[in-house]
Amino acid sequence: MSFKGYVIRPFDPWRSRLCTCPPKYSFDPYTGCEHGCLYCYASSYIKDFYNCRPKKDLLKNVRRDLKRIPIDSLISMSNSSDPYTPMEARLRLTRACLKEFVNHRIRLLIITKGVIVLRDIDLLKRLRCAVTMTITTLDKALSKRLEPHAPTPNMRLNALSTLSASDIPVGMRLDPIIPFLNDDRIEELLKEAKNAGVRHIVASTFKPRYDSWRRMADEFPEEMDKLGRLFKMGERIGRSWYLPREFRFKLMKNVAEICKRLGLTFACCREGFPQLHTAKTCDGSHLIG
Ligand code: SF4
Repeated sequence: MSFKGYVIRPFDPWRSRLCTCPPKYSFDPYTGCEHGCLYCYASSYIKDFYNCRPKKDLLKNVRRDLKRIPIDSLISMSNSSDPYTPMEARLRLTRACLKEFVNHRIRLLIITKGVIVLRDIDLLKRLRCAVTMTITTLDKALSKRLEPHAPTPNMRLNALSTLSASDIPVGMRLDPIIPFLNDDRIEELLKEAKNAGVRHIVASTFKPRYDSWRRMADEFPEEMDKLGRLFKMGERIGRSWYLPREFRFKLMKNVAEICKRLGLTFACCREGFPQLHTAKTCDGSHLIG
């Protein structure tokens, strides 16, 4: 079946052989994103990425596409943008889509950095859903440089607490881990996540493409100089650069062990180490009731 022109499509992470995600649909209410994360790889395949705009005829197309997919389908929102990008506060398009999902008994996995998600708790309670919030550091100043227009790490942690207190299952994406920048306070961050009600962690190392590497090198020249030497010993997989396999394994194993100590489940994203996973799904969709 062709999904050309559809807004809800089968999730296809560039046919990555390292992806361990369960079958699911992918949906982005917006094209591009306003959060401006320097490490974001979506800018390498979406034109004019930082000029965020709503999808054309979004609601009409969502209604059409929902008729084509089975009731109870799993939708992941969003993989190449953020459904709670700042303009969502004004446009309320993600909210309108949630109302459609409620009527279609969709299972929904939300991936976001946006605390606007709290506005929609009433609808999330009516859906079978889970929210995974990406938090890369506890350091507000570092986050401001890395993710200039995203809510602060504390705001995101507070949002997780509120969601969890509202009986909405929550996970956290520690994604990406960038050696020399945010790999030093991982245990502290995971403890905060645990206190906020997080049950599952998805971790991933920085896998730059040309444009994300350039943005990072402009902002963090010294650190990227050191990191660049490590990448030279790594490998190229698809269109991304990967750190050396042993280095990545050590990093992921360390996070997995911290998670185990804290009673959190763990998985990594497109790293090639499924043996470290301790949950039924890597992406956190098992959290959905
Ligand atoms: S929030 Fe996600 S999609 Fe948006 S810029 Fe950051 S990494 Fe990219």
